[in-house]
Amino acid sequence: MTDAARLFAAVDLPDAVRSDLAAWARAAIGHRDDLRRVPADALHLTLAFIGDRALEEAGEIGEAVTEAAEGEVPLRIGAPLWLSPRHPHVLTVAIEDPTGALTALHTRVEAALAARCGLVPERRTFRPHVTVARVRRGARIRPVPLEAPPPSRFNAVAVTLYRSRLSPGGSQYEALARAPLARPG
Ligand code: ATP
Ligand code: MG
Repeated sequence: MTDAARLFAAVDLPDAVRSDLAAWARAAIGHRDDLRRVPADALHLTLAFIGDRALEEAGEIGEAVTEAAEGEVPLRIGAPLWLSPRHPHVLTVAIEDPTGALTALHTRVEAALAARCGLVPERRTFRPHVTVARVRRGARIRPVPLEAPPPSRFNAVAVTLYRSRLSPGGSQYEALARAPLARPG
């Protein structure tokens, strides 16, 4: 049996956007026993969850993901969103895609992964978001309305294939392949 790796493709956000989102989450929910905030350096926008693959497939998967990266992807911070809304497992912030470039990127990444790596595309509509906190195992929380983060416009920085290692304090991500997007910042 070869080594397996848990893989996902994500859009990287500018450092300033990640620290602003982390600061907003700290102010909005504070320190709680039932929620675990995601550290600023781990915040990301998932494009495709690939799941467990043989480590030797990672090179090909990385090529499929990075070849789909192209052009500028302007984004905006949207509203806070508990998912699922009635029985939350995570607190997220929606990401708005005013030009449709993010949706187009998502479509290209899924198509490349389907064609080259046998990924079955998700049936549900792509709803871009950044997870800022996770409900701790066994906790049940009330999805209270939260004040929105300050408005912000920025360009996506890169598309990255990550390996995720599950760990008790929150999964650790390792970048395996990365392609920059135009005009980051
Ligand atoms: P943890 O599971 O330790 O709370 P995590 O969810 O960030 O942390 P992973 O479960 O490895 O770590 O997930 C990596 C990324 O893929 C995250 O953005 C996560 O939301 C997303 N993801 C995980 N499982 C799925 C899934 N079944 N469908 C869609 N996206 C998923
Ligand atoms: Mg998870």
